[in-house]
Amino acid sequence: MARIRGSVCRLCRREGMKLFLKGNRCFTEKCAIEKRNFAPGQHGKRRVKMQGYGVQLREKQKVKRIYGLLENQFRLAFQEANRRKGVTGELLLQNLERRLDNIVYRLGFASSRAQARQLIAHGHVRVDARKVDIPSFLVKAGQMISLKEKMGKNPAVQAALEAARGRGVPAWLSADIEHLRGSLASLPRRDEITMPIQEQLIVELYSK
Ligand code: SF4
Repeated sequence: MARIRGSVCRLCRREGMKLFLKGNRCFTEKCAIEKRNFAPGQHGKRRVKMQGYGVQLREKQKVKRIYGLLENQFRLAFQEANRRKGVTGELLLQNLERRLDNIVYRLGFASSRAQARQLIAHGHVRVDARKVDIPSFLVKAGQMISLKEKMGKNPAVQAALEAARGRGVPAWLSADIEHLRGSLASLPRRDEITMPIQEQLIVELYSK
């Protein structure tokens, strides 16, 4: 399972916004964006005005990091969206939201997408009652996602569920927290994906 190495808080500081990569810590005052909201490195405090390619590149990096994808994985996700009929940028975001690791996180079973990937890779997640250990698995509308029953006693899962109570579950998912399950009620519409993302910039970047 590919993963991002090094301090993930540096990624948020590079993008100048919270990407919520560290679970519950992101909602506390220990968050690096709360304490040092400037880019990492020796010249991080210098203000650099970006335009054109630089802005497009930063947007792509931001989205890639939010969903925890590596460069190749993100490019493949874009190509898949580009192949389909419709608005490429919106399809890209919809596919990213439909990833199993994202849905496990959105349902509140994990406090971050990285933790969700670990749960999936370790075989604790079921889709329609069958084990799926592929974090990039694309969930279809109507499919049921559940955790193994014994995971209800897992302290990390319990902490994630507790934190998720305040965060809430998106309208396009239906959750049954008590039984550690939930389903994709409908495919997420663009207006239901609330992260501040300008997907058109990514389409422009890859169209060069
Ligand atoms: Fe980003 Fe979370 Fe680190 Fe804050 S605590 S900088 S939101 S990963």
